[in-house]
Amino acid sequence: MPLSEFDLIHRYFRDLTPARDDVLLGVGDDCALLDTAKDKALAITIDTLVEGRHFAPGVDAADLGHKALAVNLSDLAAMGADPAWVTLALTLPRADEPWLESFARGFGALAREHGVALVGGDTTRGPLSVTVQAHGFVVPGQALRRDGARPGDLVYVTGTLGDAGLALLVEQGLYTRPQHLGFLRRRLARPVPRIGAGKALRGLATAAIDISDGLASDLGHILDASGCGATLQLEQLPLSAAVREYVEETGDWNLPLSAGDDYELCITVPEARQGEVEAMGETLDCGLAWIGSIDRAPGLRCLREDGTTLDAAAGYDHFRGAG
Ligand code: ADP
Ligand code: MG
Repeated sequence: MPLSEFDLIHRYFRDLTPARDDVLLGVGDDCALLDTAKDKALAITIDTLVEGRHFAPGVDAADLGHKALAVNLSDLAAMGADPAWVTLALTLPRADEPWLESFARGFGALAREHGVALVGGDTTRGPLSVTVQAHGFVVPGQALRRDGARPGDLVYVTGTLGDAGLALLVEQGLYTRPQHLGFLRRRLARPVPRIGAGKALRGLATAAIDISDGLASDLGHILDASGCGATLQLEQLPLSAAVREYVEETGDWNLPLSAGDDYELCITVPEARQGEVEAMGETLDCGLAWIGSIDRAPGLRCLREDGTTLDAAAGYDHFRGAG
């Protein structure tokens, strides 16, 4: 007998995530009832992943469950928020139990890691798509917005850049590097939301964004919102061994500069707080690398060690339409 929608929700989603004191009523009624904190703002974000657009048909269901949640937690991280609750809208071509079991496993493991409760959702039949809405808390004055960067601020990024983009090139058969395949696939399939970094940057960063569309594009959003420009030092971009070898072989700096899907954080910090932010960066597993500074002149400039510039806009087209 096919699984009813009700059975499916009960079996896979009702008790998937940890209980929280602030969930007065979770999955099962017409609405969830949540106890909101009075002294904090509720940070809300939503992202949809559609088969064939955001992920390839046949992608591993546990990876998809992880990623659908991770990209939303990444937005909370970029705001400096503490994650609390999520809702999940699933559109499925059919009730495939092994697929659901695997999807729930990937989703549930990441939710437990961050103490996030799944409090409701919707389940419908149709072409595969996954929408997650995430809710978190942050003291309004400490939220990491996009509009606070000022000339003279230093620019930093967490982790390494271009790994997910290189994984896509490998998947498309455009680059082959057998020794790094596992690492690259993991970077694309299992992005790590930088929640700890976002929280540690509260009250320290003047602006922050998570890198979903590529550093040049996402830092561009900070520059637009803040009304300033930036100069990056290309050789300072933090690269994994895989991307470093790729850049050495091809000379293609546009990959780490413009490829999306890494979900690292890009932040700005006043120069006077350089010591503080670098000491904090040393406590992060993902690391925090200085890559340039904010200027008064609008636009993004990318300098090489030899003093020549790279046209940052050029690389953008390379990946446009992929996201
Ligand atoms: P309604 O018709 O009142 O919207 P539904 O039948 O859609 O109720 O859902 C029943 C309950 O199950 C609701 O509490 C809803 O939030 C929850 N729910 C539905 N789908 C999911 C899902 N994929 N994950 C978590 N909770 C879900
Ligand atoms: Mg419903």
